[in-house]
Amino acid sequence: MPAGGRTTHGFETLERVLIAEEFAYGDAGMLLASPGPSMSGVLLDVLGDQEQKDWFYGRLAERPRWTFFGLTEPERGSAVGELTTTLTPLPDGSYRLDGAKRYVGNAARADVGAVIARVAGAQRLGITAVLVDTSDPGFTAEPLGTVGLRGAQITRITLDSVHIPAERVLGRHLSPTRRGMWSIGITFNRLRPGVAAIALGIARAAHDYVTAHRRELRGAERERHEALGRRIEAARQLTYRAALSVDARPAAGHLASAAKARACALAEDVTLAALGFFGPGARLDHPLLDKLARDARGVEFMEGTGNIQKLALFQGLISGKIGKAGEGE
Ligand SMILES: Cc1cc2nc3c(=O)[nH]c(=O)nc-3n(C[C@H](O)[C@H](O)[C@H](O)COP(=O)(O)OP(=O)(O)OC[C@H]3O[C@@H](n4cnc5c(N)ncnc54)[C@H](O)[C@@H]3O)c2cc1C
Repeated sequence: MPAGGRTTHGFETLERVLIAEEFAYGDAGMLLASPGPSMSGVLLDVLGDQEQKDWFYGRLAERPRWTFFGLTEPERGSAVGELTTTLTPLPDGSYRLDGAKRYVGNAARADVGAVIARVAGAQRLGITAVLVDTSDPGFTAEPLGTVGLRGAQITRITLDSVHIPAERVLGRHLSPTRRGMWSIGITFNRLRPGVAAIALGIARAAHDYVTAHRRELRGAERERHEALGRRIEAARQLTYRAALSVDARPAAGHLASAAKARACALAEDVTLAALGFFGPGARLDHPLLDKLARDARGVEFMEGTGNIQKLALFQGLISGKIGKAGEGE
């Protein structure tokens, strides 16, 4: 993508999947702690006009900066249709942004990010994404203590009359039906295979740790370990297919949901099994495995829990969208 005076790479979902698994194999926390466009970059690719991309990427090009993507709310979770953070239109075409967000990665150290909100008084079509400069008056973010994925530094955000100029409203150049829920859904479809890949990296790291550090595995233990290895490979194939499917048809997110649910559940299975291979003192004796198990719990919640992915899958089944020619399912 040409933006901000340079060309930015890494927008194909398959590219992101390949990179995310390798980084997460090293340390998922470090991947999530890194500055860069992250989730907002994908949102901008879906919803941003050229001027907005230039503003966002121009700032990132000046020096390494963190970004954030604020969707989840204290009382409403991540259900886009139920958001209460409000954009109030002002006479000059700008907006006032009020509300609260929770569990938002990197917001306390970010310079810029995106917030998903509802235009005051509007219903379904009122869901809107805006770009926010964290130095603007009324924006505050404070880190929350966490047990897993500490690198993501998840935060609580308060938005108290933050002024949003008209040019920071994403999707202005798109039709009303394409600006809100539809675009956010596309963004999640494109992000979910990447989270599946992070889970795969965590699972592979735990599996390889057992191979390297456990005395020789025999009999049933060996079979269990090898079966987990086959499940990692199967989840990887599903994740690749999901990435290819979303790159070909971003609106078809069922495979992405399947991959996210499957890989995250697998990461928990593999990390807990890995601890089991080392006996009752494993969390103390093998701190890396303890960390991997805590991180695996964390990815379950990123970009929708397993239950939300299953809801998306069942909605696809009920509506008949799954199984249509071209979806590869
Ligand atoms: C490491 C990490 C990073 C994160 N980063 C971000 C970020 O950058 N930006 C952001 O906005 N958010 C972020 N989140 C928040 C994450 O998206 C939410 O935690 C997640 O969507 C779940 O929302 P919730 O915590 O409010 O739980 P809830 O939605 O309250 O869910 C609680 C439980 O209820 C279940 N549940 C909820 N609804 C249903 C339903 N309809 N049917 C069946 N079961 C249901 C869920 O599966 C879960 O088990 C992050 C979370 C973590 C752990």
